[in-house]
Amino acid sequence: MPVHDEICRAIDRLEERAVGLGRQIHARPELKFQEHFAAEVLTGALRNLGVPVERGVAGLETSFRAEAGKAGPTVAILAEYDALPNGHSCGHNLICTAALAAFGGLAAIGPQLPGRIVILGTPAEEGGGGKIIMLDRGALKGVDAAMMSHPVDGEYATFPTLATRHLRLAFRGRAAHAAAAPWAGASALAAVIQTFQSVDSARLHFRDGSRLHGIITNGGQAVNIIPEKTESEFLCRAHTTAYAHEIAERVLRCAEAAAQATGTRFSHEVVGGYKNMINNVAIAHRYARHSETLGVLTPDAPPDLPTGSTDMGDVSHAIPAIHPIFRIAEPGAGNCHEERFAQLADTPRAYKAMIRVAKAMALTAYDLLAEPALMKSARDEFAACVRT
Ligand SMILES: [Zn+2]
Repeated sequence: MPVHDEICRAIDRLEERAVGLGRQIHARPELKFQEHFAAEVLTGALRNLGVPVERGVAGLETSFRAEAGKAGPTVAILAEYDALPNGHSCGHNLICTAALAAFGGLAAIGPQLPGRIVILGTPAEEGGGGKIIMLDRGALKGVDAAMMSHPVDGEYATFPTLATRHLRLAFRGRAAHAAAAPWAGASALAAVIQTFQSVDSARLHFRDGSRLHGIITNGGQAVNIIPEKTESEFLCRAHTTAYAHEIAERVLRCAEAAAQATGTRFSHEVVGGYKNMINNVAIAHRYARHSETLGVLTPDAPPDLPTGSTDMGDVSHAIPAIHPIFRIAEPGAGNCHEERFAQLADTPRAYKAMIRVAKAMALTAYDLLAEPALMKSARDEFAACVRT
């Protein structure tokens, strides 16, 4: 289709700028909600495209939004740009530049765009749930479908992710001299250790694919004092939100029992949680078709694919959405969140893949705007998935 070629040519023209931005953002990793540099350079690049940009969307300082086209069906491309303490080890420098290039390619066709395309800068995917805040505050209102793409060491059009429930636990015991009067104390450390042990015996009974992992963030005050206070965190993950909640309930029961056994008091707070990803297959398969035309086979993910969690899951429960993943290295070369993955996210191969993915997303978004039948299948499928 000539318009498809035109979009791809526009993305080719943006390549140098997008790769330059990817490198700059990679060199200045910023943690969740602190992505000031990334937001600044990305919005600067959008202004250079001649589109007005809104900053501080939904009250989040490092978010942004821009749009192009005209009233009608609306597709949003989401950009993540936060890093981890070990740098861009999740490759979000590639996610935001792919989104920028895809948006730029579509904005370039001007009046030929049969609807509206939105780019949404969404902060704090890594533990801050930026998209959930933006969803709750209406930033995706009027958007019919959403997409983003994430680098890994594989290539899939669909990507199942796990729902999470993040718990923070606190035990309060009684301090005492650990040698002179241990009988006067109640150990908050014993309580937290028992919680971990009970949780470990409970996990045998969890459904396949569930994950439960925790850390002790405060294990006591001094070695010669019976620990008065301890704190720990658990992340409960499962294929569905409901089951992640069930696992969390089990953790709380283990903690209550430990408190009872050790004579301590127990309290907890729910820090947050992400929903599992509902992959819209109608959109994902159109993405796969474009990806194949661009030279890369992009099948559906196998059910046993190792996976994590993302706040894009919450978006996918609100509107039809896809979160395809793309290969920037050979399988096994590095996993997300490892330091070596940060190096893989800044190579010519990674940036080449980013541009190809930008094209596949842009063409998919264009089709959604141009083909009412495709948008309808996406909507019908979404309605059926959310009902079940
Ligand atoms: Zn990530």
